[in-house]
Amino acid sequence: MASTDNDTIAAVATAPGRGGIGVVRISGKQLTLFAKAILGHEPKPRLARLCRFRDSQGDALDEGIALYFPAPHSFTGEDVLELQGHGGPAVLQLILSRCFELGARPAQPGEFTRRAYLNDKLDLAQAESVADLIDAASAEAARCALRSLTGVFSQRIHELVDALINLRMLVEATLDFPEEETDFLKAADAFGKLAAIQGALEKTRLGARQGSVLREGIRVVLIGQPNVGKSSLLNQLAGQDVAIVTAVPGTTRDTVRETIQIQGVPLHIIDTAGLRQTEDEVERIGIARTWEAIRQASVALLLVDVQHGVTAAEQDIIAALPGTLPLLTIHNKIDLGHETFCRRGNDLYLSAKTGEGIDILRTELLKIAGWQPEGEGLFMARDRHLIALAQAAQHIERARAAGGRLEFFAEELRLAQNALSTITGEFSADDLLGEIFSRFCIGK
Ligand code: GDP
Ligand code: ZN
Repeated sequence: MASTDNDTIAAVATAPGRGGIGVVRISGKQLTLFAKAILGHEPKPRLARLCRFRDSQGDALDEGIALYFPAPHSFTGEDVLELQGHGGPAVLQLILSRCFELGARPAQPGEFTRRAYLNDKLDLAQAESVADLIDAASAEAARCALRSLTGVFSQRIHELVDALINLRMLVEATLDFPEEETDFLKAADAFGKLAAIQGALEKTRLGARQGSVLREGIRVVLIGQPNVGKSSLLNQLAGQDVAIVTAVPGTTRDTVRETIQIQGVPLHIIDTAGLRQTEDEVERIGIARTWEAIRQASVALLLVDVQHGVTAAEQDIIAALPGTLPLLTIHNKIDLGHETFCRRGNDLYLSAKTGEGIDILRTELLKIAGWQPEGEGLFMARDRHLIALAQAAQHIERARAAGGRLEFFAEELRLAQNALSTITGEFSADDLLGEIFSRFCIGK
């Protein structure tokens, strides 16, 4: 790792395609010579200046703003040079090639952020939230990711770790006087302190679980014949929110047809319209993927025209769904007939046209996903964080159950601390780092 983290890396940091501005980002050690070769002069630190970006002959490749951040006051903690040129793929490629000519190599996905982490500019949870902020599918998710990025989540974890360390020191000190163990712990209120840690951990877990709903969204399987009102229902559900269509990590673009938002929570709609018998190989692959997505769904929505009810075609799909998947049947278009809005168990009678009954459906979907909008302190947690928090909670519970058996008590506290430390990366394996940073986009 040492050698690859020491060289100079470069990448286009802005999104592919055309734009007003495109940024080439370079990070490495001693970039002054490098900068001089491209700009023709040594740039002043942190001063925006209009420059010519030059090729090896001194001819202009582009004209733009150069920004130079000497180590350690940069995003990566190394020397960073940002060349803001014109945002066209060809011109940015020219600038990038010039960087490679000068000895830089192409940055791997997430490599800038990885260096920031290795140089202690960010902890691991913060580094992950960089990707989460970029991938955020709603304003709420973005706000939540930013909170993690600025260290609010890490701060909570540090407080928990510190409290565990204090308690461990207390216990270690007691280990020297075996016959007075229980008395000592009682006098120091060790169990009271443990209970306080347990409470704080539960609060953090709640916030993390909520954040994870924001991040992952709710996966909805939509079943319904043409014309029953699927599109109308999705529009009503989304309400004022602008529907943002995004690719969700872990699912393929072609199976998730649409993403809408309810109160900022992304709702990924998996349409089952394509689930029919076919001889076509490509279509078959698509169908297999759709079923794969359905297996990961949080809820199924069957939409029927209230005047026709559930037909055999829909019965077939329902029969093939995982038995554990919650199912809501929506009887739509009540405005046309004699029905009024009502709910009978998992059957909802509503109108996608007038909006009657939509609020109830919205609330129901959020409830199934475990969303509590008033849940305090949301954190953009990943599965890895949730697992670590759960492990810590388990060890703390075991410490409590260990009672006066001091060695067990101490050992469980140590394990709880280790579990929490994996979140911020103070206690992490190399392969975890590889896994986390490889999921970034290039240039970040
Ligand atoms: P989809 O094919 O399932 O997506 O159905 P659409 O949402 O495109 O709706 C099909 C037709 O039914 C359109 O003309 C809608 O205006 C109409 N429609 C949808 N929901 C309702 C409803 O609740 N009441 C009435 N009266 N018409 C509806
Ligand atoms: Zn439609």
